[in-house]
This record gives sequence, structure tokens and C-alpha cells, in this order.
Amino acid sequence: MVALAMAGALAAAAAMIWREYRGARDGVFAHALLLAEADARTDRAVQERDIALISERLARFMALPGVKYAAVRDADGREIVARRGEDADGYPEADFGRARRGVAPFDQGIATDERRAGLERFSDLTVPVFVTADMQRGAGPRASGGEAGSRYLVGYYHLRVSLDEVWRSVQGYALRVALACALFVALTALLTLRVTRRISAPLRALEQLVERVSAGNLEQKLIVKGGGEVDRITSTINALISELHTYKLQTDTSNVLLSRKVDERTEQLSRRNEELNKAVQQVTKSKEQLHQLAYYDSLTALPNRRLFIEQLDVLLRLTRREQRIVALLFVDLDNFKRINDSLGHAAGDVMLKEVAGRLSRCLRSSDFLAVGSGGDVPSSVSRLGGDEFTVVLSNIDRPESAGMVAERLLQSLRAPMLIEGHELVVTPSIGIALAPDHADSVSELLKLADTAMYHAKSAGRNNYAYYSPEMSGSGVGRLKLEAELRRALERRELVLHYQPQVKVATGEIVGAEALVRWNHPERGLVPPGQFIPLAEEMGLIIELGAWAVVEACGQIRAFQRQGLTPPKISVNVSSLQFNAAFTALVQKTIADFGIDPGMLELELTEGVLMSNAEASIRSLHDLKRLGVSLSVDDFGTGYSSLSYLSEFPLDELKIDRSFVIAFDSGPRSASLVSAIIAMGKSLNLRLVAEGVDSGAQYRFLHEAGVDVIQGFLFSKPVPAEDFARLLGSNRFAEQIRTLEQEAA
Ligand code: C2E
Ligand code: MG
Ligand code: MG
Repeated sequence: MVALAMAGALAAAAAMIWREYRGARDGVFAHALLLAEADARTDRAVQERDIALISERLARFMALPGVKYAAVRDADGREIVARRGEDADGYPEADFGRARRGVAPFDQGIATDERRAGLERFSDLTVPVFVTADMQRGAGPRASGGEAGSRYLVGYYHLRVSLDEVWRSVQGYALRVALACALFVALTALLTLRVTRRISAPLRALEQLVERVSAGNLEQKLIVKGGGEVDRITSTINALISELHTYKLQTDTSNVLLSRKVDERTEQLSRRNEELNKAVQQVTKSKEQLHQLAYYDSLTALPNRRLFIEQLDVLLRLTRREQRIVALLFVDLDNFKRINDSLGHAAGDVMLKEVAGRLSRCLRSSDFLAVGSGGDVPSSVSRLGGDEFTVVLSNIDRPESAGMVAERLLQSLRAPMLIEGHELVVTPSIGIALAPDHADSVSELLKLADTAMYHAKSAGRNNYAYYSPEMSGSGVGRLKLEAELRRALERRELVLHYQPQVKVATGEIVGAEALVRWNHPERGLVPPGQFIPLAEEMGLIIELGAWAVVEACGQIRAFQRQGLTPPKISVNVSSLQFNAAFTALVQKTIADFGIDPGMLELELTEGVLMSNAEASIRSLHDLKRLGVSLSVDDFGTGYSSLSYLSEFPLDELKIDRSFVIAFDSGPRSASLVSAIIAMGKSLNLRLVAEGVDSGAQYRFLHEAGVDVIQGFLFSKPVPAEDFARLLGSNRFAEQIRTLEQEAA
């Protein structure tokens, strides 16, 4: 705007100055023309050569600005009168010829000096002076044109004007114009500034307001002082802002309420979520617990029968096509029921846990498995129930590896366990069946391993046996046996055989051990080792044991009725029978048959006595009070506490057959037997050696101090009738004489 005003003012000033300059210059020329005109028309001073008038006129010329030379020349251009400025010397002489070059005689001429003569620029003005024809007097050349016939050139006015000086003469004016122009520009600028301020200040305020509003600040009002329109706009905007502010406050409030609601909902949701998570956790936990209950034994935490069957099934399927051997070891604890019944279920549970722990630990020590099979053998222990455990060896390279594992399992249970203050030993019997050799289904494999286990038990317990097809052929499958055994008692298939006990010194029969046999309708005479453990596990032993006592007492009575003098008869007592009811039964039986209580002897193993020594002491005293004789069977195989042994009211000690067999296997075995004998003697017990079947054994035992000998050497266990015949003879006295003669 200011620039526009400045440009306009400058242009206007330039135009004005130029006009002034032109006016000044043209004023001189016009003056000259007027004078020439006047001269021609009125006074004819040039024609008349009126020097005074001419001089006066020239002087007037000289007074005009910039005129440096004024002259009147004749028609030929000769100078008649001339005036020169004071500083005429400083300028070049006026050149008439140059000034008239190219100009017709009656035309005025203006020749501007293009060259610079010093610093000044000059213009030469020549104006012809002419008269009409009738007034001709010594006139110059005739004028040409329409009036050529009536005009005569009488001379020229010649003016020389310094253009620079004309310019200088208007300089004052130019200065004034420039000043006015500057003033105008300044005013315009000032005005523009003010106007701009008036407009831009509200605009800036408006801009700031927009920024504030967009930043959400609606509290500050727009303050602009502009008056009029601006004020109206300001108040409108402020009203708008205040409405916006109110609206914003409302929105903020509802936003706060909304966010509070959202928070509440979020909290509710997260609480719900937590509850849901808890519920899911509980469900998962219960599921896990259910799974644990369904698949694991709660007592030992081992996999149960169900899991065992499922896992073995999968394993068998997987290994069917591979050349791998899977071994199933069926582990059954020997005489566990005795522990349970004599010490209570709590003690039994502790024992089962301990057994489970030992089996697992034993299988975990992978080095022995690796050594045994030449590689790592994956294995798992499960508890099927009661005292039955299984071990599955999922990848063995040869059948013998299973036997090595079984050996190791036996070993692991060998050390006594401390249960409720008792040092107990539990032994297992292990049956081994192999897949795919023996069977390839779980049920079949389990059945065969069970059969093998049963055979291991029959073979004297605390050992293992591989399944062989003959076992099945012999028909000793456990389930079958169980059913048959129950019937055996009802059908009176059980019989007692009697094995004589011979006094070393005299050869007389001082006793007989009643040993049960099962007269099986198909299999013939079954030895007790094959069904006593089963009877114990089935609980049938109570009935069986009672039957044996009654049968033996009845036999004593029968012998007596036959007129024979029978010796005392020993009956084996299982630990499960050994309780108050048994004592009552013995008492009643003796009374029923009316026999001398001293005729009856009861054989108890070390294990039975030691498993609950305190109770045993009481029971033994009860029995002792009845007058029966008490004997410790299989002495040396258990873990007898000598201090307890001395407290039991015992009469007899039976040295186990294993010592008798081993006596000549080395000096230590012999001295062991001697030590047992010495101990028995010191406890004042009768010493009976059982299982004696050779003369050498007889002689050794005789020399060692054994009182009574029982064994095949003298007689196998025989039916009652046969035993009655033995009673009548003095066979054994003769036999002893022969033996001693041989020795001598
Ligand atoms: P036990 O009480 O140690 O009986 C001795 C076992 O040794 C008997 O075996 C007997 O036949 C055997 N025997 C005796 N002399 C010799 C010998 O010179 N050589 C050999 N090889 N063996 C000999 P049996 O009759 O098979 O009885 C085995 C076990 O069965 C008995 O061991 C006993 O613990 C148990 N038993 C037998 N009858 C009964 C019973 O009525 N009730 C209970 N609870 N257990 C019984
Ligand atoms: Mg016995
Ligand atoms: Mg024995």
C-alpha cells in the first residue's frame, strides 16, 4: 500500500516537475514567438532596424530564465544587435547556421545542442520575422506558401537558452513538489500503519483465540479494542465462546460421569474376569484332582491299575511292530496281610508307602538298569491294589535284563523298615511275563505275570520267576486256585500229614509236625507252599488254621482211642491266626477232645513273634497258661531280637532247613549252626533241626548238640494211618544205631 502510494506520488511529482520545466522552457520560446509576431504586425522594429526597441526587447529576453544569448539577425543571418549574458565567455558561440540547418526560411527552428559543451546543454531558437508585401522595404527573401506573394523575411530573432539553467530555475519548485510528495508518502504510510494496526490487532487476537479454543481453553475472552464493527464481532465471538464454554463444561461433566461409569464397568468386568479365572482354575484343579484320583493311587501316589492298564496298552501297541521286549514284573508282598492284621492298617499303609518309595527309587537309579540291559531302560511302577505292584520295563534287549531288575527290587526291600517302632522286613515275590514272547495283550500279560508270581511264592517266596507255559498247564492260576481253595475246605479236601520228630539219643518219636496237604481232585496232593500264601491273602487261613488245630487234636484223640501213645503234635500257626480268638479256639478244642494240653505244640515263625513283640508276649503267655507247648519255626531266617526272644515263654527252637543244608558248605556255616544251638541251649530251649535228609547232616547236628531231628532221613510227612504204624515200630532207633556205626 505504502509502496503503491510512494510510486504514485513519485510519478505525480515527476510529472509536475517535468511540466514545470517544460513550461519554463516553452515560456521562453513562446515569448520569442510573441515578440516576433508583434514585430511583424505592429512596430516593425526589425524591419526598421529600430535598434533601441530591439535592444529593449533583447534585454527583456535576457531577463527570462536560462537565456544566455539574444540577438536579432537579418534575413541572411547576420547579427544586427546581440546581447550576451555576463558569463558568455564560458559558453560556445551561438551558431546560427547549425540552428537553422534543415529548417525552411519562414519556419521557426529549434536546435538543441546534443553535444555537451562543458556541463551545460543549450537550445538554439530561431524565429523568422516577416512582413506583408505592401509594406516591403528592403525585405529579405519572399515567403513561400499560400501567401508567398505577400510575405517578406526581414530577419530572425535568435535566442540561445541554457536548458540546465531553465532546469535550475524550476529546482525550487521540484524540491517543494518532492517534499510534498514525501509528506504524502509519509502520511499514507502512517495512515496505512494505523489502519493495518486496527485490522491486524483484532486478527492476531482472533488467531490466538482460535489457538486457545482449539487447545480447549474457553475461559479467556477475546479482548480487542477496535470500535464499531470490530467490537460487535468481538462481542459476538465472546458470546459464542461463553456458550462453547458452557457446552464444554456440560460435556466435561458428562464425560466425567461417563468415564466413571466406564471405570465402574471395567472394574466389574475385571472382577467378573477374576472370578471366572478362579472358577476356571478351580475347575482345572478339580479336573486335575479328579484325574489324580482316577489315575493315581492316593496312598502311594503311584499310577493305579487304570493308568497302568492304559499305559501298558499303548506301549504294547507301539512296540508291536518293533523288535523290542516289554517286561511286566508282578510284585506281591509276602505275608503282608500278617502285618496289616497284627499291626493295624495304619502300619500296613506306612509299609506300602515305604515299599512304593523303595521300588521307585530303585528303578530311578538308572545306572543299574543301563548296566543290566546295555542301555537306558524306561520303567514305571504302579500299584494295582493291596500289596500288589507292577513294574513295566518298556524296552529291554534280552529277557535276562528283567531278572536283573527283579533281583535289584528284591535287594531294595531286604533292609528292615522301621514302622511304628518295629523293625520289619517285607519280602516280595515277583512274577515276570514278557511281551511279545508270552503274550501281547495287557490282560493276558497280567494274568501270566500273576501266575509266575504265584509260582515264585510257592517256591519259597522272596524270589522271582519267569513265566513258562508249564505254569499255566499245571493249572495254578491264582483265580482258579482261589475258587477251588474255598471249596476245598467245604469238601474236606484238606488232610494233615505227620512228619515224625526223632530224639537223637534214643531214636524214639518224641513229636510230629502236622503238615497240611490239599488232596486236589485233579492235581493230586498239592503241597502247602502252593496254597498257604493264597489262603493267607484270601483270609481263608483263619478257617484253615482252625481246621488244622481241630484236626490235629482230633487225631491225637483218635490215636489214643486206638490205644496208641502218640507224641505231642505240632501245628503250624500263621501270623494271621495269632490272636485272642485263636487262644480261645485252642482252649475250646483241647477241652472238646479232652486231651492233655501238653500234647499240642504250636509252631510260630520269628516274623510272627517279632512283628508285634509286646502283643506276642501277652498272647504267648495266654497260650502257655493253657499248657500247650510253643516252638519257634524256621529259626535263623528272620530278624529275631534276642532280648525279646528271652522274654517269650518258649519251649522249642527249630533250626531252619537252610542252615542244615549249608552246614558243610564252609567253616562259617558250621559255626553259625553251632552258635544257634549254643544260644538255644542258653535260653533253655529244646533244639529241633528240620529238613535233615543225610547221615552227614545227622552226625554233625548230633555232635553239635541238637536234641531232636526231623527230616526225610527218618520219614517224609505221612498220612495218619502210616504215622500210627511208625509209632508202633522202633524203626528209628535201629536207623540211628546204623548211622552211628557208620560214623564209627
Ligand atoms: P515248615 O513248618 O518249616 O515245615 C517243614 C517243611 O519242610 C515241610 O514242608 C516238610 O515237608 C519239609 N521237610 C521236612 N524234612 C525235609 C527234608 O528232609 N527235605 C526237604 N526237602 N523238605 C523237608 P511242607 O509240608 O511243604 O510245608 C511247608 C510249609 O508250609 C511249612 O513249613 C509251614 O510253614 C507251612 N505249613 C504246612 N502246614 C501248615 C498248616 O497247617 N498251617 C500253616 N499255617 N502253615 C502250614
Ligand atoms: Mg513248621
Ligand atoms: Mg520250618
